[in-house]
Amino acid sequence: MPALSRRHLMMAATGFAAAAALPRYASAQAATAPAGPFKLPPLAYPFAALEPHIDAKTMETHHGKHHQAFITNLNNFAKDNPKLADTPVPDVLAKLGDLPDTLRTGVRNNLGGHANHTMFWEIMGPNGGKPSGDVLAAIDRDLGGMEKFQTDFNAAGGRQFGSGWVFVTVSKDGKLAIETRPNQDSPLMDGKRVLLGNDVWEHAYYLAYQNRRADYLKAWWNTVNWSKVGERYAAAKAGTLGV
Ligand code: MN
Repeated sequence: MPALSRRHLMMAATGFAAAAALPRYASAQAATAPAGPFKLPPLAYPFAALEPHIDAKTMETHHGKHHQAFITNLNNFAKDNPKLADTPVPDVLAKLGDLPDTLRTGVRNNLGGHANHTMFWEIMGPNGGKPSGDVLAAIDRDLGGMEKFQTDFNAAGGRQFGSGWVFVTVSKDGKLAIETRPNQDSPLMDGKRVLLGNDVWEHAYYLAYQNRRADYLKAWWNTVNWSKVGERYAAAKAGTLGV
């Protein structure tokens, strides 16, 4: 038995050393991550700007780790597939079927994630104000007014099982609709455009809200930058809205 105990200790020590080495390796990798055509879009506001509704640590991890991972993966794909970075993101996502089998799932997940998060950072901000003008008129016309819109959007986000997103899509003639997608799928994959959307993956809210997705969905409205959403609505009608 003493020999066995020593052996167990050695195995435990070896395992511990390997685990301890991992973060150093991972951070060295990040620091020397090869440059590539895909870039993490900088946030237009500090990590803490959306508190108390979204905490700074969640923002830092979500932007710097989760979104960065999509960028790193896309740059790896682009090494062997330079066309991937030369084609507008909505065009690639609308034609995933044109990609080789070996690339399709990776692009679906990582370019979908890149598009979704780029939109997400853009439509949030401190002191977001209220909807007005054309976008408010469209909300009244197509979504039954702000109160019903928010209730329906939160309900849809709550019903999305597991990981995914709740979006408002906007057609070229300005019509709005609430739609959900699993994982990092996007309405762009159906040739549609996104006015706004909320991330209901647990990583978006778990640090502060744990399992209380409904509370996060309600609080999130305080972070929406309505002037940005108004710009996106105008761009959608002009046919110039990207991700
Ligand atoms: Mn996310």
